[in-house]
Amino acid sequence: MPVPLLDLKLQYQTLKPELDAALIRVAESQACILGPEVDRMERAMEAYLGVKHAIGISSGTDALLLAFMALGIGPGDEVIVPTFSFFATAGCVTRLGATPVFVDVDKRTYNIDVGAVRAAITSKTKAIVPVHLFGQAADVDALMKIADEFNLAVIEDAAQAIGTQMADGRRVGGIGDIGCFSFYPTKNLGAFGDAGMVTTNNDELALKMRQLRNHGMEPRYYHTMVGGNFRIDSIQAAVLNVKLPHLQEWHAARRINATLYTQYFIDAGLSTGTGVTEFDHNNSVLLPFTEFPSDIDTHIFNQYIIRVQNRDDMRAYIQQKGIGSEIYYPVPFHKQECFVNVPTANNAFPVSDVLAATVLAIPIFPELMPTQIQEVVATIAEYSRTVRPILEL
Ligand SMILES: *Cc1c(COP(=O)(O)O)cnc(C)c1O
Repeated sequence: MPVPLLDLKLQYQTLKPELDAALIRVAESQACILGPEVDRMERAMEAYLGVKHAIGISSGTDALLLAFMALGIGPGDEVIVPTFSFFATAGCVTRLGATPVFVDVDKRTYNIDVGAVRAAITSKTKAIVPVHLFGQAADVDALMKIADEFNLAVIEDAAQAIGTQMADGRRVGGIGDIGCFSFYPTKNLGAFGDAGMVTTNNDELALKMRQLRNHGMEPRYYHTMVGGNFRIDSIQAAVLNVKLPHLQEWHAARRINATLYTQYFIDAGLSTGTGVTEFDHNNSVLLPFTEFPSDIDTHIFNQYIIRVQNRDDMRAYIQQKGIGSEIYYPVPFHKQECFVNVPTANNAFPVSDVLAATVLAIPIFPELMPTQIQEVVATIAEYSRTVRPILEL
């Protein structure tokens, strides 16, 4: 039985009547951009995330760009970003003429290394961008302390982390100065196209971001600042309004799937459990580090990432057996061609380099069945047994 990396049609089928009705409602209203559906989505997000202001945006990338613009980041400024993330995190810094400063990530969580951030601060540093990578909370509290000390802004890239909680229960996106979210269809909460959101507890920044979202216009056709078209479509907000009440169930299903993976990898003799950071004879597959202090969503498993040494060969094998997978991300920022002239691109980033060569995302979506999870693990075990041992010590 093939197991795709993600099957969005299954989720659509479970909510089809409500989603179809929402789409028709927007069609009949012909309120196509912003409007009542967007207002409703923003208020619902403020309640869900426990944040003062949520502002719907055209995409997660635009949310980051807008956040940097609202903070006045531009030429001569430095913004500290992890070198291991999706491209937009660094691309938006460069687009504004500022310089991204790459730092390595933590080998357990794959999130930004707080010690490396401190070491990267210069007189030009304006902001730090922690990414809650794969859906796991980064240590924003530690970064806020550093930010206070050096008078920097913290922008959370929470594109993969809608609903992720810090250990004390606060949801990410409202901890730094600005939170940036994406509703790209493959995220835990996906729209029917591109969509995103910024969040903040700062009234002044909220006002500015609302204005920048619509060309900096206030009142109509009077521009005191240069913004852009970062508006969200009503149809996307309508879809999100239907889906948001189900998000917690989906997070819970992903967590159960992660727990099953741990059990099955242990049963197959490929792992001794989560939290192992070095390969050894009992750990030829490294599992995601997870912390479940209670029933808290400190990791919402937007992606379930394993690490294996001969990854590309193993991936080709499971692919041919019908198991979907993806490499997030094969090339860290410091090795991207477009960033050759970034001064820190020549620094050493040992953790990110190892991750880029060994990470593999395997299916984790909420509708996945235990038998499918079993099949994914069995196919990986079969590769290790019959083709060549995964481990090359
Ligand atoms: C998806 C993603 C983005 C960009 O979001 P889009 O909606 O695709 O523009 C930014 N940062 C991270 C970490 C992401 O995963």
